[in-house]
Amino acid sequence: MSAPDTARPLDFIRQIVADDLESGKHAEVVTRFPPEPNGYLHIGHAKAICLDFGLPQEFGGRCHLRFDDTNPTKEEQEYIDAIQDDVRWLGFDWGEHLHYASDYFEQLYQWGEHLISTGKAYVDEQTAEQIRDTRGSTFVPGTLSPWRDRPAEESLAQFRRMRAGDFTDGQMVLRARIDMASPNLNLRDPVLYRILHAEHPRTGNAWCIYPMYDYAHGQSDAIEGITHSLCTMEFENHRPLYEWFVENLPVPHHPRQIEFSRLNLTHTVVSKRKLLRLVQEGHVKGWDDPRMPTLRGIRRRGYTASALRAFCMEVGITKSEGVVDLGLLEHHLRKELEHEAPRRMAVLRPLKLTLTDWPQGKVEQLEVPNHGQRPELGVRQLPFDGTAWIERDDYLDDPPADFFRLGPGREVRLRQAYNVTCQEVVRDAAGEAIELRCTHDPESRGGGGRKVKGFLHWVPGGAAEASVRLFGPLFRSADPEEGGDFLNNLAPDSWTETLARVEADLSAAAPEARFQFERLGYFFVDPVDSRSGGPVFHRIVALKDSRPKRGR
Ligand code: ATP
Ligand code: MG
Repeated sequence: MSAPDTARPLDFIRQIVADDLESGKHAEVVTRFPPEPNGYLHIGHAKAICLDFGLPQEFGGRCHLRFDDTNPTKEEQEYIDAIQDDVRWLGFDWGEHLHYASDYFEQLYQWGEHLISTGKAYVDEQTAEQIRDTRGSTFVPGTLSPWRDRPAEESLAQFRRMRAGDFTDGQMVLRARIDMASPNLNLRDPVLYRILHAEHPRTGNAWCIYPMYDYAHGQSDAIEGITHSLCTMEFENHRPLYEWFVENLPVPHHPRQIEFSRLNLTHTVVSKRKLLRLVQEGHVKGWDDPRMPTLRGIRRRGYTASALRAFCMEVGITKSEGVVDLGLLEHHLRKELEHEAPRRMAVLRPLKLTLTDWPQGKVEQLEVPNHGQRPELGVRQLPFDGTAWIERDDYLDDPPADFFRLGPGREVRLRQAYNVTCQEVVRDAAGEAIELRCTHDPESRGGGGRKVKGFLHWVPGGAAEASVRLFGPLFRSADPEEGGDFLNNLAPDSWTETLARVEADLSAAAPEARFQFERLGYFFVDPVDSRSGGPVFHRIVALKDSRPKRGR
């Protein structure tokens, strides 16, 4: 997998890790990827995953997959399973280190008692609103709770009764006793435990109090011996709290939290809440819709894990926020598929072409290479009987001079076959061309004959039919939030489907196979909707980037 790229300077996190190993502070690097199982992973997570799992691969060590499952009302086993599957698909493995914050509920509870006993936490019986209203603001210090100085034994007794289920949701909470005047609001006596009579996907009904994310996270890192706890910038303000817990509890180990900037992409939303709206409100066909930036969607679109990893590597790790052009990911896909994908021909909007001068009944086998630059991928035979399908867009009734394709009286080359000249156009009642009747130059076989400027892809008259789906970005503006609600920026034509003609052998194409369809792009056999003999192709990416750089 990704060996350290020695040509690139180390990013600031890799530099810290390298220094810590060199100074002997750590013998190996231990990281974790900590998803909350409340949604599907998206391309932003891929950046975090590539960093968390990449470091131990490059420097030696291990990465844990840890579910931060502290909020039972939003979490589901479905997400737990999908997340594991997606991380594996991306090419990473946590070995034996599959962990859950819920594995530590008992320890975290004991540490809650410890904080109470040392005067660093108290049970607050104010309502949630009172707690919120007395928190103050950046410039106004908070107000002390009337319960803040209650005796430790009293808090302890109440905390035990909270656990025992003696109280209702929201009746009281456990709070840290830190500093109600701190300029960092996270340190104003944050809530550590709340009462929640909810069934947990893993612990069932064993608990009716649950630790807050901030309280669980750092201690879980400490328990697991995480050396470098990497997270995105929004946790920077939480770091003092993270460190406060680690310093005030008898934890076995002190991890270091380091923040980096989130990945944002043009034409894309990467917020679980927004992605959920797209799915729930029916703007897309599900979490694995090929237009979605979820790993499920990206996968079903046909993107490769290796191109995604290369993209994440190139984006790099910094602290500055930016928006990466979607074109960069497409660049990595093209680069990989240009080499990997065998070539085939397909016609998206077929128009019939008939050679009037082809000998009746004659079928010629045309030998065609599967990859122009890679002879080891072999050749295939295209049976040519004087009929073919070409792209409707490759013919114009009245073409301008610089249109090097077909028009009345014009000559072009059918790739790997013959030069043909359009002699006559058959039309339907509406005047639309439905068949081009042409003659051919027998001398042009194998590249001979007159020189022509136009080279068209085509498929034999006996080609198979297949559904082909073409995708555009889900959002028409580079910034989906432009002008307010992201749902107002949905592109109306992000999914188009056509009944194409494809080379006959493609009707037996294996699910998840990838091809380059000449002149059209790279395509993937959808493993979900394809049936035996009836493949459905997804365009992964066109051959060239035709989108405007920014905006509409
Ligand atoms: P939520 O808003 O629901 O908390 P989240 O996107 O933070 O969503 P988590 O499951 O908490 O989701 O994320 C797991 C890890 O992935 C976190 O460490 C988070 O920092 C990281 N992560 C999430 N989104 C991105 C992103 N766009 N770029 C890089 N890392 C991300
Ligand atoms: Mg989060």
